[in-house]
Amino acid sequence: MTSNPRPLVAGNWKMHGLLASIGEIEAVAAGYDAELRARAELVVCPPATLLALARPIAADVGLGGQDCHDEESGAHTGDISARMLADAGATYVIVGHSERRAAYGESDALVRAKAEAASRAGLTPIVCVGETRFDREAGRAVEIVGRQVDGSVPWSAPPERLVIAYEPVWAIGTGLTPTPRDVADMHGAIRARLETGFGAGNGGATRILYGGSVKPANAAELLRAPDVDGALVGGASLKAADFLGIAGAYR
Ligand code: PEP
Repeated sequence: MTSNPRPLVAGNWKMHGLLASIGEIEAVAAGYDAELRARAELVVCPPATLLALARPIAADVGLGGQDCHDEESGAHTGDISARMLADAGATYVIVGHSERRAAYGESDALVRAKAEAASRAGLTPIVCVGETRFDREAGRAVEIVGRQVDGSVPWSAPPERLVIAYEPVWAIGTGLTPTPRDVADMHGAIRARLETGFGAGNGGATRILYGGSVKPANAAELLRAPDVDGALVGGASLKAADFLGIAGAYR
């Protein structure tokens, strides 16, 4: 069971968004009324180029980065540190997204180092885990995700300053979703790992998000599943109306 007071709905814009897209963040902020603020926390993770521009208009909507380096500064051309993201207005950062694990071969150890760097910079890391279709069909989903949690979580961080996003790789951007029962089973297994890692009674403070083809039409049934503390939303976060429609499941 979770003990964190507010669920989190986070939008991952990926490599989408130019200056003109800032209006979408403004629209999310405008629709984030007192009722919704009381019931859910909203965060948008635009490209890092937009963070400092979004900061003054995001109002109560939080901002996050999509990745960070595991060092604070140095000779790492093209990379961005957690401290830089914080400086630009972020309070969260996604690490270990399956697209980065696949495209850049990011290991659990590297994801953990990035999450630790995020914590040192005062950011809350959103650590992504999730099985492939092959893993699920082989009946190994819980084992694979459990191993990712064990290896990627920054166990020295306070559990309440950590978010896990369970994102089955086969559900990302495909329109496919697991059943609410499968989501609940996986979130329960992740919660058990957190209880083991942080110590009994402490794992409930970490929010576990579901991600993968969440839309306004399926949000309520997925977000109502036990141990689901919010959503990480990709494609449907690009339009304020859809993103607010998903968060509206908490009204
Ligand atoms: C994601 O990439 O984190 C994601 C959940 O994408 P989508 O919602 O588009 O499936």
